[in-house]
Amino acid sequence: MTESGTTQLLEGKKSAAAIRDDAAATVQRLRAAGVVPSLALVLATSDESAAWYTRAIVRAGEKVGIDVRVERLADDASAATVRTALQRLSADDTVHGIILQVPLPPGVDMVEAAAAIAPGKDVDGANPVSLGRLIAGLPAFAPATAAAVLRILDDNAIELAGRRAVVVGRSLVVGKPAAMLLLARDATVTIGHSRTRDLAARTSEADILVAAVGRPRMLGAEHVAPGAVVVDVGTTPDENGNLVGDVDAEAVMGRAGALTPVPGGVGPVTTALLLHNTVAAAERAAG
Ligand code: NAP
Repeated sequence: MTESGTTQLLEGKKSAAAIRDDAAATVQRLRAAGVVPSLALVLATSDESAAWYTRAIVRAGEKVGIDVRVERLADDASAATVRTALQRLSADDTVHGIILQVPLPPGVDMVEAAAAIAPGKDVDGANPVSLGRLIAGLPAFAPATAAAVLRILDDNAIELAGRRAVVVGRSLVVGKPAAMLLLARDATVTIGHSRTRDLAARTSEADILVAAVGRPRMLGAEHVAPGAVVVDVGTTPDENGNLVGDVDAEAVMGRAGALTPVPGGVGPVTTALLLHNTVAAAERAAG
């Protein structure tokens, strides 16, 4: 944690490094026992940010000794083709983790497709079974970005129980699971979305504010209570390809108690958790 004015920057680097170190140690053990942890990324898009994200996972995976395979499907792959690829990988004993990359081809629904990922290999918590288990409080892989939000809060000793948390965004990959994870930790949770009236009135009640929208700098000083902890999940590329968060960092600096930077906040922790989950899946499969 570093200081900037009175706002602490909650950087993801340290958490990510600790998660990767843990994963690398387990990989060494597994490899010594003849198991090579393997992660399959299913990609059916030429989208530039998906390609960037895929390269980042391949690089990070290689560093900790995970074998990362990219299964490239056509940009216009049908729902049946995507499902078949996921079923094949689910049945392949040499694959331990499976990620279905977004965006998907037109007509392919994420939740329906992800239902074909074996829950034990669903390292990004996309299968509706994983999501249901998460809500039920049963063991499951949580969507890695939502889990990264919690990991950053925990690593910085941010108290959650009894505190007011507002999550802006209700997608199945980030907003909803982040809200459920906060609820499971006894925070009092409000979820904001595009139809929320007077968003600033809601968000400025938050002790902990999680922004997961994808609208560059949409949350300014009026959205943030003095001293609030702000986790910015948003990552939108600007015209120069730089990632911009949902929070206007300049405007909330000195007002927020703490803020995750973009880039360098939630993103690296998300990637590290995907690797961690893959190693955990490999460990479980190895018995
Ligand atoms: P998404 O599926 O597009 O969901 C966006 C959410 O924001 C929706 O629930 C939407 O509400 C809400 N929203 C849109 N406009 C709003 C407004 N004006 N006021 C309040 N809420 C509004 O996006 P996502 O997949 O959850 O991703 C959100 C952001 O996180 C994106 O920038 C994405 O790139 C980023 N992300 C980062 C990571 C990481 O590791 N750092 C990982 C995944 C995603 P409705 O439901 O009403 O439409």
